[in-house]
Amino acid sequence: MHTLRDLSLSGRRVFMRVDFNVPIKDGVIGDDTRIRSAVPTIQLAIARGATVILASHLGRPKGTPNPQFTLQPVATHLAGLLGRPVAFAPDCIGDAAATVIAANPGGVVLLENLRFYKEEEGNDATFARALAALADVYVNDAFGAAHRAHASTEGITHHVKEKAAGLLMEAEVTYLGKALHHPDRPFVAILGGAKVSDKLEVIQNLLGKVDALLIGGAMAYTFLTARGIATGTSLVEADLIDTAKRLDALAQERGVRLELPIDHVVAPAFAADAPTRTIDIDSPSLPTNGNIGTDMGLDIGPKTVAHYREIIAAAKTVVWNGPMGVFEMPAFAAGTMGVAQAVANVSGTTIIGGGDSVAAVAQAGVADRMTHISTGGGASLEFLGGRTLPGVAALA
Ligand code: ADP
Ligand code: MG
Repeated sequence: MHTLRDLSLSGRRVFMRVDFNVPIKDGVIGDDTRIRSAVPTIQLAIARGATVILASHLGRPKGTPNPQFTLQPVATHLAGLLGRPVAFAPDCIGDAAATVIAANPGGVVLLENLRFYKEEEGNDATFARALAALADVYVNDAFGAAHRAHASTEGITHHVKEKAAGLLMEAEVTYLGKALHHPDRPFVAILGGAKVSDKLEVIQNLLGKVDALLIGGAMAYTFLTARGIATGTSLVEADLIDTAKRLDALAQERGVRLELPIDHVVAPAFAADAPTRTIDIDSPSLPTNGNIGTDMGLDIGPKTVAHYREIIAAAKTVVWNGPMGVFEMPAFAAGTMGVAQAVANVSGTTIIGGGDSVAAVAQAGVADRMTHISTGGGASLEFLGGRTLPGVAALA
């Protein structure tokens, strides 16, 4: 895979696919992380003398122009971040786009939302050719969109002479790829979040690679149920209990430590002000000081945090996806915050993926102590699940 650094850019028009799919309400941008993540790549291209043509999707306009999903506010915001003007083109193909690009040599142009055309998600060849016609070189820095074979992420690459990954794309593929294929060991994965079903592929793939797999969050309860442990009214995916049993057996067969919580914070309701109890996991093989009854488990307990911390402390590579509890509610945040601190203290490579996990790490105040925070929720999950991402493959 070539990267932006390998290309000669002076005097050339670069079509740069970025992920500017940010929350916008009444024209005001919320979290601008995705825009800021692309700035180094844009700056490098400008410094090398390119005309930068930025293209992104925003929301789900479903193939028709809709002012609710215009990228115009992003152009204004980006101009502030870059400290230079960003011209906005009211269309992403055709004369309207070409005119704005021609008027801004050596500058930055942001094209209107790609998804105003249904041909974008349909990966239509004519549309892809029209995008390619705007530029000399193609750069993809939209890791968050790389798991979809769309016209701007895949189709376009068949109509350009030169293509390369942007700096963000390069970092994502390098860090995630190294963890999967050449991890420094011990390699520990921490998986949590709402559902086993969301992350089944990831669990399966990582079981073949890690030394230890630490499970928390709601997904732990399907595994605990599979081990015959009472889980009260905790979130359990009944149809995945057999799968969980199989994964447990597979871990044993491969000599992977698959760790489940040994204690947890439970409550009679999924509510911020519910009365809580911290009890051991109700298991005949463990000393129990409480029975879950009809309560539900909403966070891992302090004994589990201490146990996981010990395993994490010895790790040389950590991949974390999915919070350990309902960290959005203070009563159920301690487990996730404790694990975040433990991961921050690792002397090795630490990689965080998943939208809520990234938010949790930020909430813990340790984001800048992680090696890499993945910007692509779905894309990083598919990557960790062992899938080839079409947007990455297309750059080869
Ligand atoms: P990510 O976005 O990092 O991939 P997920 O979307 O899979 O993570 O899961 C995050 C959600 O899981 C959070 O909203 C959190 O409240 C929820 N969650 C974590 N533990 C539990 C639990 N024990 N019961 C119910 N929900 C949980
Ligand atoms: Mg999520």
